[in-house]
Amino acid sequence: MSSIVLFGPPGAGKGTQAARITESTGLPQVSTGDMLRAAVKNGTKTGIAAKGYMDAGKLVPDSIIIDLIRDRVKEPDAVNGLMFDGFPRTINQAEALATITEVSHVIAIEVPDSKIVERICGRYSCASCGAVFHDVFNPTTVQGVCDECGSTDMKRRADDNEATVNQRLNAYHQQTSPLADWYDSKGIFHRIDGDRAIDEITGDILKSLN
Ligand code: AMP
Repeated sequence: MSSIVLFGPPGAGKGTQAARITESTGLPQVSTGDMLRAAVKNGTKTGIAAKGYMDAGKLVPDSIIIDLIRDRVKEPDAVNGLMFDGFPRTINQAEALATITEVSHVIAIEVPDSKIVERICGRYSCASCGAVFHDVFNPTTVQGVCDECGSTDMKRRADDNEATVNQRLNAYHQQTSPLADWYDSKGIFHRIDGDRAIDEITGDILKSLN
């Protein structure tokens, strides 16, 4: 079992790229953000514990996240590894992950802070299949209709507003970015310029996975 980590600030395009890379690698995408949003929606114990942190743009405590991942890797589709999107976000989480699976590549999608608010505040996704779009950079071909599955049920995330984005960026710089050096020292860290066309970024990610 050997896994891939997609690393980067909120709004860097990790989810968009993860969906594309999954098609090439066959590794299932695991987004802790998606797992937590599902838990909140379903009113589970994890969801109730996580909601306040998420609404405030703060990181959910490591113990909750690590438990989620320990359960996820027990699923049969995890046998060849997983593609993590938005996990790990702290050194503690990375240390826990190292005891769970080998990580072969950490792909860092780099986008300057000045571009993040604009990118996040314009994004929306399909409630049915999860495809991600953007008002300006990646709109649906037909307004309000998902290009992937044809659903007309589009949604925006509650935490995709300017105040929460700034808090999420703070959390990224203070708690998550130190992980870059941690993984770089292991020789598995690949930096990708994320401020380009979606296809160019996917191409570079796939090259660095080869
Ligand atoms: P995301 O969808 O990755 O932007 O995550 C949305 C929110 O979920 C974050 O702002 C955090 O509150 C929480 N979250 C997601 N993944 C993690 C993680 N690995 N560690 C801590 N909190 C997380």
